[in-house]
Amino acid sequence: MIAANIEKIRQELPAGVKLIAISKTKPVEMIQEAYHAGQKIFGENKVQEMVAKHEVLPPDIEWHLVGHLQSNKVKYIAPFVHLIHAVDSIKLLETIDKEGAKNNRVINCLLQIFIAQEDTKFGLSPEEAEQLLQSTSYQHMRHVRICGLMGMATNTSDNTQVRAEFHSLKQLFSRFKSSYFAAQDHFSEISMGMSSDYKIAVEEGSTMIRVGSSIFGERSYAEQ
Ligand SMILES: *Cc1c(COP(=O)(O)O)cnc(C)c1O
Repeated sequence: MIAANIEKIRQELPAGVKLIAISKTKPVEMIQEAYHAGQKIFGENKVQEMVAKHEVLPPDIEWHLVGHLQSNKVKYIAPFVHLIHAVDSIKLLETIDKEGAKNNRVINCLLQIFIAQEDTKFGLSPEEAEQLLQSTSYQHMRHVRICGLMGMATNTSDNTQVRAEFHSLKQLFSRFKSSYFAAQDHFSEISMGMSSDYKIAVEEGSTMIRVGSSIFGERSYAEQ
């Protein structure tokens, strides 16, 4: 079942779009099943859960932290995390830089941009993101690498609105690319699209989709 779900999604994806399997709340057995179907990139939204799964699962898995991250928890994932999707403050980025230095590595990050018409989601406004990129604090960081932007569309059945929100993220990415990262190939990722909206996201230029329930099945409400 899991293998078939992954295969079905893969067949729809253009070359170059990565599938992040969001395994939050799901047991390691299900992750192993996906792993044996060739899935090597997994995303979690809770630090403790990601650390526990990382400890028992194969070392060649790329672990992505996709949810809101508190500064005081960065140290637990700094040794191994492959990409932090939801950087939403300069303070958090400073902490990641510090922990990257302690672990003698450069930690890949995305800036989460607020694109939805909802007030429940985390993220930077385009102006705040630009201030971060222009700050002297950021310019002195040597242990973070900003690889692109991440966004979540409004949870609505109005596909026109969802498409417009994804389109705005792609436009901001293009503007930041030419203004701040023109010579830096690593600024190349747009993480957008979940089970309900990844097809629209891919049409609007996503390079990474974060899909949970369409692979592993629905999560119960209490588990979200
Ligand atoms: C849970 C989650 C997803 C996956 O959601 P599905 O609707 O199950 O595909 C994607 N991104 C983030 C940030 C999440 O927390």
